[in-house]
Amino acid sequence: MDFKQRTVTCGQLRAADAGRTVVLNGWVHRDRNHGGLHFINLRDRYGITQVVVNGDSDPDLQSTASQLKLEYCIGVTGTVRKRPDEMINKDLATGEIEVVASEIEILSLCETLPFMIDEENPAREDVRLKYRYLDLRCFGMQKRIALRHYFVKAVRDFLSARDFYEIETPTLIRSTPEGARDFLVPSRIYPGKFYALPQSPQLMKQLLMVGGFDKYFQIARCYRDEDARGDRQLEFTQLDLEMSFVKRDDILSLMEELFNYVFKQILDYQLPAHFRRIAYKDAMNTYGCDKPDLRFDLPIMDFNELAAKSSFSAFKDTVAANGFVKALCARPNEKCEFTRKYIDELQDAAKVYGAKGLGWMKVTSEGTLSGGVSKYFAGMEKEVIDSLKAQGGDVIFLVAHENWKRCCTSIGAVRSKLGRDLEIIRKSFEFCWIIDFPLFCYNEEEGHWEAEHHMFSMPQARFIPTLESNPGEVLGDLYDLVLNGYEVASGSIRIHDVELQKRIFRICNFTDEEAQFRFGFLLNAFRFGPPPHGGIAPGIDRLIMIISEMTSIKEVIAFPKNTAALSPMDEAPSEVDQKQLDELHLIIKKKD
Ligand code: ASP
Repeated sequence: MDFKQRTVTCGQLRAADAGRTVVLNGWVHRDRNHGGLHFINLRDRYGITQVVVNGDSDPDLQSTASQLKLEYCIGVTGTVRKRPDEMINKDLATGEIEVVASEIEILSLCETLPFMIDEENPAREDVRLKYRYLDLRCFGMQKRIALRHYFVKAVRDFLSARDFYEIETPTLIRSTPEGARDFLVPSRIYPGKFYALPQSPQLMKQLLMVGGFDKYFQIARCYRDEDARGDRQLEFTQLDLEMSFVKRDDILSLMEELFNYVFKQILDYQLPAHFRRIAYKDAMNTYGCDKPDLRFDLPIMDFNELAAKSSFSAFKDTVAANGFVKALCARPNEKCEFTRKYIDELQDAAKVYGAKGLGWMKVTSEGTLSGGVSKYFAGMEKEVIDSLKAQGGDVIFLVAHENWKRCCTSIGAVRSKLGRDLEIIRKSFEFCWIIDFPLFCYNEEEGHWEAEHHMFSMPQARFIPTLESNPGEVLGDLYDLVLNGYEVASGSIRIHDVELQKRIFRICNFTDEEAQFRFGFLLNAFRFGPPPHGGIAPGIDRLIMIISEMTSIKEVIAFPKNTAALSPMDEAPSEVDQKQLDELHLIIKKKD
């Protein structure tokens, strides 16, 4: 079908264009008909232009205008006219003008819409995902997808200017466990054999270092076959990066410069030149998590000494059993009263992480303690108030647990909830580094040590001679980048020594044979002069989500899966033909 192609976009025309004859192509966003006088808001990616069809225009034009429905795709030929001053629409970039139509061409029709484009109350998520192509027409999605583009472009510009090469790595690889479950792709040519989709290009980027490409990056798609939970997607995008001949601080500085550049470019936002560095242990002790939200204060404080002196046996026993008691002071405000019911909610938040209860007591304006567990602190009020630097009107919250991590995370959950409910979270971007992570964590279920990050991360030098004697104490050359309470990147300096790599595999319960079977290609490469190297991988979906003030990564991905890992639009995953199964040598087991 022939049609008149646009000469301008719907976001382009200004007062200076008055008098021009133009052609616009776009969608009918809104259409008002005042007895033959039509006002059509025509929309495309660039904006909205008001088109006018005069009541006395020719009958063909009138007839076409009256057939228009929402989201019809049309072409309009017309003359740009400046609007009278009182008719200027300040909300529209094109609000100074309108286009008086001389011809309207209907390019395609649109059936009744499942939801209105750009309506105040968005449709249910599954409806949005089923008709994602319509959802993508909405202003918010258009803006976020554009932001994503500019983000990635700024990253590419920055890294290219620093001598990085963008190199693609395969998406059909050998299954190499990296922490999560692999997606497998059956081989048609080799019956019984499988490719895996990469959980990340981790080993490939390390091999690129062995290959001499000392500054690599890639906007990489990663696949993890995890249970549908929270805001996870089966596939996500990361900026994968690796460098040779570097130490930890080189990577941290590069990232600080990169985010400074990108935030300035795309948001005109000035970040600090350096991001705070917090040791994992300090982050847990002060914020109760390893991805602290620094946009509000409410620090957690050690309360062991005071708890031991109190007459509260639950606290005293915990301290006597080498456990932990931690405190936090907060003050109610007009957004959030600390009612009994609310304190119960805080207690529930703490219990999710293992706390048995949440102690509390009020600080009065006279400098005494009242309510809750205050009676156990009789005679030591001043000491408690001074040591916590509490003020009249504050409430002190207390959590006790024998296990340090559980104690921290329980009171950390209370801190997070208070931050949200008191609405004391500042509007800013607060980056920080978490460093000095443990290299290993103990898998209680399987009864062995495993890597906290992945098995290719370097232990800190002082632990290398005695790794095996107490894996739980080993700190790694690992780092996470945190933004506003989300982990947005993690990385490490890598092992480049075959023997050390084998020791790590053994600690993580891989026999030498198994390690050779799974990772032989890496160990082989390390026999041929591997350079010292390290890297990092910021998650692009999550960063764009935070920057665009969304709470789900689905809002920044063009075609995401829903929370049940399904795609309501194309109904993936789907069954396949018997012929396809036969070719892949697959038999589907019947469900019992
Ligand atoms: N491959 C790691 C990940 O995806 C990141 C890294 O260590 O560079 O988490």
